[in-house]
Amino acid sequence: MFSYRHAFHAGNHADVLKHTTLIATLRHLMQKEAGLTLIDTHAGAGLYRLDGDYTETGGEAKDGVVKLMAALRAADQPPAKAVSPAIDDYLDLIASFNPSGALRVYPGSPFVMQHLMRAESRDRLKLFELHPTDSKTLSANIAQLDAGRQIAVARQDGFEGVKPLLPPPPSATGSKRALVLIDPSYEIKSDYAKVSACIQECIKRFPTGTFLVWYPVIPRPEAHDLPRRLRTLSNQAQKPWLNATLAIGQDPTHGPDDRPGLTASGMFVINPPHTLKGVLQEALPQLLTHLGRGRGKSQALESGG
Ligand code: SAM
Repeated sequence: MFSYRHAFHAGNHADVLKHTTLIATLRHLMQKEAGLTLIDTHAGAGLYRLDGDYTETGGEAKDGVVKLMAALRAADQPPAKAVSPAIDDYLDLIASFNPSGALRVYPGSPFVMQHLMRAESRDRLKLFELHPTDSKTLSANIAQLDAGRQIAVARQDGFEGVKPLLPPPPSATGSKRALVLIDPSYEIKSDYAKVSACIQECIKRFPTGTFLVWYPVIPRPEAHDLPRRLRTLSNQAQKPWLNATLAIGQDPTHGPDDRPGLTASGMFVINPPHTLKGVLQEALPQLLTHLGRGRGKSQALESGG
């Protein structure tokens, strides 16, 4: 069950899409002073070394954040014209974890959220990670921050753990606000159905929450069905939604017998900030320009509700 380790994939094109969307969503939510409850149901280890054994083996960041950073931030590159502010913001955040300039560390979603959360608004972060090693690493990484009760890590099933946290407690101003990221590895087929069931329950418990689901775009019926189900659930609950996909296409250096690896993924957002559509409309084509590499590359954005 636990063969998936995010360290192999950290900083790949899927993380670029996921974390750019997450940051843009949080930026908007944080324009209001009222505190936010942030929940990451599948947190991973939190921090990853891009020069470590795992990433060297997979090297997926090379086709993701490393490529994007080189295209837009390398000293010998002419300044890119009108880079999307969301991509700029994402690269700034990644760069802040790499003060020497060399890209050595990649912050996963717990550290992306932690980086943006506000002490003065008393934002809270709840992290779930089930893998014994990754949850230990995550706890150790979080302990170094000395964040006290602002951040909690649980070695628990995130699909279950999120439920009693919704609705969130009221902030100091009395409003209840929460963002939930659901980002499983989908290594077991049942994850697809669990995501739908979890979203259904989350919307029931807290209809005004912002819910972000990452999913792989792969030729598998469950994967194909998931965004359709999420769309149906959102429409039934009369909630606005947005679905962004990024496909970087086939690796032209791969032979016919090479395993293709993940080439496409999507982010489904329920109750997105009203600004997110415009932000992604600008960012997605630029991500495709810089990360797209061969046959099958595409980007798309649809919305409803
Ligand atoms: N959200 C992370 C990020 O963006 O940096 C990456 C998470 S990774 C795709 C999925 C993680 O979920 C893995 O570390 C895996 O061990 C963990 N996991 C798998 N099933 C889980 C469950 N039911 N509850 C909590 N964590 C789970």
